Amino acid sequence: MTIYSYLQDFQPILFQTFGNALKNNNLSHAYLLDGEPGTPLKEVAFYLAKSLVCDNPNPFACDKCLSCHRFEEGNYTDFFFFDGAESSIKKESVLALEKAFNMTSVEHKGVLIYVTHNVENMTIEATNALLKFLEEPAGKVYAFLTTNNLHNVIPTIKSRSQIISLQLIKRDILLKLCESLDITQEDIEMLVPFYNIPSLIEEEAKSERYPEYKTAVIATLEAFSEDPRKGYLKAHELITPLRDRFLIKRVFTYFALFFKDVVNYSIGHERLFKSYDTLVVKLAKTIINPLPLIVTTYEISKKVDDYVNTGLLVDELLISMIKETSND
Ligand SMILES: [Zn+2]
Repeated sequence: MTIYSYLQDFQPILFQTFGNALKNNNLSHAYLLDGEPGTPLKEVAFYLAKSLVCDNPNPFACDKCLSCHRFEEGNYTDFFFFDGAESSIKKESVLALEKAFNMTSVEHKGVLIYVTHNVENMTIEATNALLKFLEEPAGKVYAFLTTNNLHNVIPTIKSRSQIISLQLIKRDILLKLCESLDITQEDIEMLVPFYNIPSLIEEEAKSERYPEYKTAVIATLEAFSEDPRKGYLKAHELITPLRDRFLIKRVFTYFALFFKDVVNYSIGHERLFKSYDTLVVKLAKTIINPLPLIVTTYEISKKVDDYVNTGLLVDELLISMIKETSND
């Protein structure tokens, strides 16, 4: 699914508003795109930015002209990107932007554009530096800011931006859309809770890290369902060595989702991971009381952000799980 058809089919408000602004040459200087984790905020921000540099906009980017191609390849001189998703954005990055903007634009379009992804992750110094751009929009400077958490964006940024919220694609519709992807049903079910557009689901399924955390989750739960002590050892073998905090958090979230499926099974509700029903049934026989584990797991996963030793968190989780098993 292209971002164009994603906007047309699933984000009608954004499609209309931004499309009209492009047609009437009536753009705001700053747009703040807000959406749940998993919505393609960065991809949409890039696409809207590209629509401003396109040589033959209709009114969105044509994806065929030279400017669109150069933008895609990262060779468009007057475009800047700051990523708060991986680490916080520092003041130095924004100052570098300021320096670039004090020079005149290089491209024939004469517009300078920047995308700041996950703007809520900026340091206070960087935020203050960024506000300077938003306060005095010099000529043709356009900003696309994104956030997963509108409440954490400071009011001065919100008041200077036009806020557009992305709507989630419903789970059943998303599952249907994913049927045409070149990935297994198992992987679709695993990734639908985390990505809200088929293209991102496919990209993640084919990424290098995916098999790593998927195996950590499934192999640990399989071992645990056979013998909780084996599960404990497996968790330390596969989860503890994961160095990336993002991956550890994701593994813990999967545990919580599987506990939810055990609850779903016990009350006869539809399961999230239908492809793993055998595993869920085995877990339901091992874990007597899955409900409190959902909350416990979310609480443990929050500690990942505080840089608590991974081994300790894995211990805490597995011990909580063992407590909820039968003693025979
Ligand atoms: Zn174009």
